[in-house]
Amino acid sequence: MITLLNDDFSALNEFLTEKSFSKIFILVDENTHDYCLPIVLGNLQTEIPMEILEVEAGEEMKNIQTANHLWEILTEMKADRKALLINLGGGVITDMGGFVASTYKRGIRFINIPTTLLSMCDASIGGKTGIDLMHYKNMVGTFCFPEQIFVFTDFLKTLPYKELRSGFAEMLKHGLIADQLHWEELIKIHKIDAESVFPYIKASMDIKEEIVKVDCYEKNVRKTLNFGHTIGHAIESLFLEKENPVLHGEAVAIGMICETYLSYLENLISEEDCQKVIDGIRKYYPDVDISDFTNSSIINLLLNDKKNTDNRINFSLLSGVGTSVFDHECMTENITATLDFYRKLS
Ligand code: NAD
Ligand code: ZN
Repeated sequence: MITLLNDDFSALNEFLTEKSFSKIFILVDENTHDYCLPIVLGNLQTEIPMEILEVEAGEEMKNIQTANHLWEILTEMKADRKALLINLGGGVITDMGGFVASTYKRGIRFINIPTTLLSMCDASIGGKTGIDLMHYKNMVGTFCFPEQIFVFTDFLKTLPYKELRSGFAEMLKHGLIADQLHWEELIKIHKIDAESVFPYIKASMDIKEEIVKVDCYEKNVRKTLNFGHTIGHAIESLFLEKENPVLHGEAVAIGMICETYLSYLENLISEEDCQKVIDGIRKYYPDVDISDFTNSSIINLLLNDKKNTDNRINFSLLSGVGTSVFDHECMTENITATLDFYRKLS
């Protein structure tokens, strides 16, 4: 369940009073420690003993070493099965904290308090927890839902623009795959900043929550959330070796532009809708250049994905503005044409 917090955090305080927790552990990274923790501590009213667990910020920390460190600390601090873990952070913290909580003593309760736009609208919702293994993202994890998700949108006021823009891509995706009105409202925003996205956050969270409710284990409709992510993930992986890696949402934005064009080539959407959608996305992401990567390096990554067979690659694509399909097989010729199309744009 998603609850929006008001300035006095009363919903969170009521939640803590109603449930009987033996101890509260708050997991933060170095940034959420500085920017978000003081706000939470300033508003918490509880007698339950509390400990802060801090890890370094960054995707590189979302690994088994950090998880092991957290399991050890929980053990040393005598966390029992009635302890609560509060994940206060972006997607790295909610993914890893959820994983640690869902496995420690076969599972203790946890709540998410997302602090980035990406984690508010996407990562904290849906019950996927996990860590990276070697250079593979989210290789080890569980499906396990937080007791609740508490959202305090004011946290976004300290989030850097680049991170805000990364999360905004997932909001655009929610509109494109499931809600035309949401999409149309979002593309009216002139400049992405905390104030301008505030009014649309709840709607975006609701879209994800509704889809997950219907198909928790990604057997069917949840796959539509992967729109923009097939090509997006390949580009994200290639950028990992560069000095300036792209953020997830930036790669997803390129992926969405390409996969919108692919939807058109596959006769799923009209040329007019294709143009409208691409113009809408490019308004915010005009600048990510993929000229360092060849089409074959991108397509090889797509073919290596175990979901794909022969020369066909499975995509979640648009079937209109606000509707989508999943498990749509595309031939590599159309993918090549799509990547050529993107290169001509940039
Ligand atoms: P992140 O957690 O690394 O946060 C981005 C940066 O912002 C970090 O440096 C963090 O310290 C900082 N930060 C966080 N909140 C802040 C605030 N309020 N003010 C200032 N700085 C702040 O990254 P993210 O983009 O939130 O999440 C990415 C992760 O989410 C990836 O690991 C991805 O795999 C995962 N993810 C999971 C799901 C899922 O369904 N579980 C979905 C999408 C993404
Ligand atoms: Zn994503």
